[in-house]
Amino acid sequence: MVQPTPLIAGNWKMNGLRASLPEARAIADGCAGSRARVAICPPSLLIHEMCEELAGTSVLVGGQDAHWETSGAFTGEISAQMLADAGARLVILGHSERRAGCGETDAIVARKAQAALAAGLEPIVCVGETLEQRQAGEALAVVTGQVRGSLPAELAGRAFSVAYEPVWAIGTGLTPTTAEIEEMHRAIRATLTELFGPASDTAPILYGGSVKPANAAEILYAAEVGGALVGGASLKADDFLGIIRAL
Ligand code: PEP
Repeated sequence: MVQPTPLIAGNWKMNGLRASLPEARAIADGCAGSRARVAICPPSLLIHEMCEELAGTSVLVGGQDAHWETSGAFTGEISAQMLADAGARLVILGHSERRAGCGETDAIVARKAQAALAAGLEPIVCVGETLEQRQAGEALAVVTGQVRGSLPAELAGRAFSVAYEPVWAIGTGLTPTTAEIEEMHRAIRATLTELFGPASDTAPILYGGSVKPANAAEILYAAEVGGALVGGASLKADDFLGIIRAL
């Protein structure tokens, strides 16, 4: 089986000002030579300047969300084409904070993924169960259902990744056991193969949720883990580099 190239992406969420750009530069300088692809997804307003700051480095810049339409009367929204125009190469879609806080359904996430592909962006599609769903024994069904509903057919043969982010592990310091991560990642891989065939073996399945330097090696070397989506620990170069260097 073809192994995916690992991807380690930092989700800065609503954090970071122009004064934070040197932090991104320090990440790029410190991860030169990593065998992972490294990306930073800052707030949209920083994308253009971050691309300039990181020009000539291997670090990719991504968005955190994109609208499904290219342009139009959608006050406050940003299209995938706009992200690409600013220099973004990837985009996080369907993050649980947007699913829960902005009412994003699987169908909406799938439309956004179509728009991202049309704009030439590589989607990172997030899925993950709540604590209640895990405690009810529904985690596998919920997450594989999200994969089926959020990934459009157009992803076949295209570069994309899936980020498994248990909602209860995000920003809490809690993480699933390695066995639970492996069980979920294997289920996601099987679903991807069913949907897109063996060509999707190159799509990394990222783990996200309280990844930090201290637990990165165990998580990143777990079966079917193809990288990480990192929130809080991606804001400081030392922490993010500690994760990247665990590979
Ligand atoms: C995230 O929000 O995508 C995330 C993984 O956050 P954290 O690493 O802070 O748990």
